[in-house]
Amino acid sequence: MEKMIYETNSPEETRKLGQKIGAAAAPGDVYTLVGDLGVGKTVFTQGIAEGLEITEPICSPTFTIVQVYEEGRMPFYHFDVYRIGDIEEMDEIGYEDYFYGEGLCMIEWANLIEEILPEKRFDVTIEKDLEKGFDYRKITIKEHKAQV
Ligand code: ADP
Ligand code: MG
Repeated sequence: MEKMIYETNSPEETRKLGQKIGAAAAPGDVYTLVGDLGVGKTVFTQGIAEGLEITEPICSPTFTIVQVYEEGRMPFYHFDVYRIGDIEEMDEIGYEDYFYGEGLCMIEWANLIEEILPEKRFDVTIEKDLEKGFDYRKITIKEHKAQV
């Protein structure tokens, strides 16, 4: 897979797409997630968690940078780096243990920490297109490869 484009027309569809990704995930997978407020990032992330067989609700980790869920078939590391002031804060929380760990890693606002993102990852973008309806979402998943 280089680049896949999905279109959804309801939160349920977006959640199901997340579920499929969570169900197919392998330990060490890294996803970034980008999209405007209210576009469906949390809906999508909740789906991923369900695909990992996590039953507890996903909350925004805004105040903790990373939220760890251990109850699924592999750990789920949910980052929201929106409030990061300095990249050194990532060192302080030991981000490498998560980015190169044994779980699925999902990073919201990943563009703010571009310089430390793993080369091997999937970049997810969720966009609205109001001409196609209020509930329409375009979800692009692009494989990012290491530069050789
Ligand atoms: P974010 O985390 O990106 O700020 P949320 O996931 O919290 O956004 O909220 C997305 C909102 O959009 C929810 O109220 C959801 O019901 C609504 N919504 C409508 N259509 C869709 C869709 N196709 N996919 C995802 N969410 C949708
Ligand atoms: Mg959210």
